[in-house]
Amino acid sequence: MGSGALVETQGERLGLIENARAWLCTLPVENVRTDAVQEFTKQETIFVEINTATGVQGIGYSYTIGTGGAAVLSLLRSVLLDVLIGLDADRPEAVWRMLCSATRATMVGPVTSLALAAVDTAVWDARCKASGQPLWIAAGGARSQVPLYDTEGGWLHLSTEELVERALNARETGWPGIKVKVGKPRASDDAKRLGAVRDAVGDGMDVMIDANQSLTRAEAVRRAAAFADFDIFWFEEPLPADDVTGHQRLAQTTTIPVAVGESIYSVSKFREFLQVGAAEIVQVDVARIGGITPWLKVAHLAEAYNVDVAPHFLMELHVSLACAVPNALYVEHIPQLRAVTDDEIAVVEGHAFPPSNPGLGISWDRKAVDRLRVA
Ligand SMILES: [Mg+2]
Repeated sequence: MGSGALVETQGERLGLIENARAWLCTLPVENVRTDAVQEFTKQETIFVEINTATGVQGIGYSYTIGTGGAAVLSLLRSVLLDVLIGLDADRPEAVWRMLCSATRATMVGPVTSLALAAVDTAVWDARCKASGQPLWIAAGGARSQVPLYDTEGGWLHLSTEELVERALNARETGWPGIKVKVGKPRASDDAKRLGAVRDAVGDGMDVMIDANQSLTRAEAVRRAAAFADFDIFWFEEPLPADDVTGHQRLAQTTTIPVAVGESIYSVSKFREFLQVGAAEIVQVDVARIGGITPWLKVAHLAEAYNVDVAPHFLMELHVSLACAVPNALYVEHIPQLRAVTDDEIAVVEGHAFPPSNPGLGISWDRKAVDRLRVA
């Protein structure tokens, strides 16, 4: 597709994108977060701002948990922002396709997807503002609230006593679910921790586990069996993220639903998982998949397979997307934007409510954003 086809059909409401810029902020982590393979050291947050001919501004963002943000910013500045100029902000599909065409040499890949997401979320912010609609309505409006589960009390470095204490606090707060990291050297260590948590919270709470891709297929099968008595709600990223066959075989050997998706960067890879039953819960991440435009496709694809969506991280954005689609199961509670926003998502009795203001609904504190800017 050539660029001329897009420029010829100018949007009536938003008009063409007149200018675009990108920058990078480093946000301090709000909590010590460790899992079986890594630590969340800082949130590199890549911002994109677009301004249209009719004076509408859209702000989008993307992230890493510690490395690669400079590469994403470089791709934006050296290639993608120039491509954006003159495109129609009312047409996110066309914009996404143009950006994809401009980056074929580095697609599919995390850096490119993260860059596309920063642009795509800015485009959606602008078009939602222009139409006066909050994102959750503009993207489908399936429901007005979504259950929230807490991950902040389940990191791998926490002792069993700390896990239990935080699980009880979560139950007291009204969370319907919590996630506990697994991947200790011995399966028995994980089992002791999970058993203590389940004993403490009783039967009325969903307990998810996450191995962050750390296990072999044989070990994942063994541990799933060892955890079977704890009524585990899902087993997240048990294996390396691209091992479709491994996840399929694991799913066939355990009654614990297998959840994947936070490390998948294309719609077609999700299809590969779904069509063989290797993904029983889909955890598509709006930044890593390349933005709202492909996120919605994955959610709808999952719906066609009768599979639910429980997006990874970015609760400030995912609360709106989860409410947009009919098959959202949970949103993950990991607050990480407090340093650069004026408000937080509304949570009542363990359920999150999407923002009702037009656009993405995230109230950026621009002074704080400027203060934390590093490039
Ligand atoms: Mg995870």
